[in-house]
Amino acid sequence: MREECGVVGVVQFDEEPHPVPSALRIYYALYALQHRGQESAGVTVHDGKEPHTLKGMGLVPEVFNKDELVALKGDVGIGHVRYSTCGDSRIENCQPFIVKYKSGNVALAHNGNLVNGYELREQLEAEGHVFVANSDTEVIAHLLVKELLKYDPVEAMRNVIKQLNGSYSLAIMIDDMLMAVRDPLGFKPLCFGTIDSGYVVASESVAIDTLNGKLLRDVNPGELIIFRDGEVESYQLFQEKYCAHCVFEYVYFARPDSIIDGQLVYKVREKIGERLAREHPVSGDMVSPVPDSGITSAIGYAKESKINYEEGLMKNRYIGRTFILPGQAMRETAVRLKMNTIGQNIKGKKVVLIDDSIVRGTTSRRIIDMVRNAGATEVHARIGSPPIIAPCYLGIDMASRDELIAAHKSIQGVEAMINADSLGYLSIDGLVESIGIDRDNLCVGCLTGAYPVDIPGESLCQRKQLKLNEF
Ligand code: AMP
Repeated sequence: MREECGVVGVVQFDEEPHPVPSALRIYYALYALQHRGQESAGVTVHDGKEPHTLKGMGLVPEVFNKDELVALKGDVGIGHVRYSTCGDSRIENCQPFIVKYKSGNVALAHNGNLVNGYELREQLEAEGHVFVANSDTEVIAHLLVKELLKYDPVEAMRNVIKQLNGSYSLAIMIDDMLMAVRDPLGFKPLCFGTIDSGYVVASESVAIDTLNGKLLRDVNPGELIIFRDGEVESYQLFQEKYCAHCVFEYVYFARPDSIIDGQLVYKVREKIGERLAREHPVSGDMVSPVPDSGITSAIGYAKESKINYEEGLMKNRYIGRTFILPGQAMRETAVRLKMNTIGQNIKGKKVVLIDDSIVRGTTSRRIIDMVRNAGATEVHARIGSPPIIAPCYLGIDMASRDELIAAHKSIQGVEAMINADSLGYLSIDGLVESIGIDRDNLCVGCLTGAYPVDIPGESLCQRKQLKLNEF
């Protein structure tokens, strides 16, 4: 199961009662992370004696109501939003996960994907552990509980990390103690900051901004942070020579107003657009983004190419979940429900259309057809990422290799399939330089098929499975 998720943790110290309860703060933070997962949401807070959880399927406003949230007592808590198209979409898979054990409770919220989750689960099941869901997160929770029976939280976490292969950014509560952990290669983002009465840890800094907090820094790859007695304790458990930050966070996934591993996503996307204009210039009358994902790169492209930025498409931001009846007419309605053309802006123009990525190619095809039908004389597609040629095993729900259009077709083949007059993808160097992080410290598995860790069934490895260097 591949998961795209957002995690958050909040702890408030000192004066009681706090003006804004922790459960509410987590709820606001989850709102800021809603783009990371729309399938389910959950909050767990600990009142000093036991954990209390609210979780359910749907968007944040669908899952929580004010009275129930305010009734969730406790100064410390974690939250989660989840999206998964593969695997089961069941309430059992909603997070946070809670595992009760001899000495208390462990609650866990996870963003990422384990490559060896299945094997670990089989081992644990053979030892008598009982699982209620089918996600990796529960595996991590059971491993942690097992270690906690023998070791203190720091040593327990070190022993858990030794067993995991894959990506994981975690917000954890061991009873009422909040911890944050990022895998030793730092695939998925995780950062923390202060709020007036305590600390917040979150997948993206926008969640900290939303709480009117101050971003302190990213959690380092291989670092465990414990928020205890009003202090931040840092344990650098593992230190690898390289990291493997996910490039797709910058391309598409993260919000542009987030700062991830020191880079403002907006700036990265603007540079992507500028670079794209240099790599693939074209004569056009207007540069239009595919909203919302192409907006920032389109601004960069327009700036660099000196072609007018003008919106040719408008997205319905309130679409949420819609039921669509079968049939071609309804499919057309479904597309128009999500996106409409601004005919007067497009008619008679050569349109340079900017989007962040092409995965299956179906969206691009539909949109380009819409722009043509609205009267564009030419449509030139410019894409703010290199061709996606291989699946992601590390936490982005991309598509299988069969479905990835660039895995099977040449650029000319994709150009024909999406019905563009021309198509230009950003180069890998262009992307890496726009991100501003050395290529050795990025995961570009989906662009090259060479992954930073061993993936069963995949032959290429960017560098051999890194030996975990204890620190
Ligand atoms: P398609 O080529 O039809 O699969 O759709 C590509 C579009 O989907 C791009 O314009 C992206 O904005 C968006 N997209 C890319 N990756 C993802 C993802 N992992 N989850 C959801 N949407 C995505």
